[in-house]
Amino acid sequence: MRKFFFAAALILFCLGGCAEVPEPTVTTAEPTTVPVTETTVPVTTVPPETVPPTTEPPVYVSELAQEDFLLPIEEFSWDRQFAPEFVMVHFTSAVMTHRQEPYHLPHIRDIFVQYDISVHYIIERDGTIHCYVPEDRVAWHAGKGEWKGEEKYLDSMNQYAIGIELVGMGSQADMASYMTKSEYNAIDDSLKGFTPEQYAALKLLVEDICLRNGIPMDRDHVIGHQEYATRKTDPGELFDWGQLIP
Ligand SMILES: [Zn+2]
Repeated sequence: MRKFFFAAALILFCLGGCAEVPEPTVTTAEPTTVPVTETTVPVTTVPPETVPPTTEPPVYVSELAQEDFLLPIEEFSWDRQFAPEFVMVHFTSAVMTHRQEPYHLPHIRDIFVQYDISVHYIIERDGTIHCYVPEDRVAWHAGKGEWKGEEKYLDSMNQYAIGIELVGMGSQADMASYMTKSEYNAIDDSLKGFTPEQYAALKLLVEDICLRNGIPMDRDHVIGHQEYATRKTDPGELFDWGQLIP
């Protein structure tokens, strides 16, 4: 959990400011409280009725996310007309354009801009959460697809889902449409799959989103992109759903 606390502390700071951030003090405080620099900020995603007594209101993980908004929001999202009903998990990288720096966010941003993609949250390898589009807007991450044969979701999931991109890549089979087997094998194994810090951050973020939006945190409502759009392979074979929804 300490790794997560460190990652949660990182959430407070912008990309450009990370270098100036002092090391957060990690103590043996209650599991739901994370000391962050000089100011102690309670971090919790559990329901309010189970929050230990505190004089501070709870701070949700999503509120601590970096509001980078690296994309021009008005050009890459729409007003949301319907309440979110789903959380959709993806992976993303710039491995096609920058094989040596696949997880550098500005490279990924360039791809989003090129292909008219946007998403609500991106979680970096160290667990840092960035908010690219506010939840009350429709981001463009689901594309065409269908869910349980329901007409309302046909090619319209962006209207109903909050999207989260994990910076990462899947198995060789998942990546087969992007690179050859030898190209995949040449990539360092540490860059494949997802990190413990990402799983920890993702779980807290999804719990937070589900709690605030009244979305059941189950596999009917927290879904992978590939389950909606069968042409897709994310989050792929290396994503361990058991770590998100046991
Ligand atoms: Zn996707």
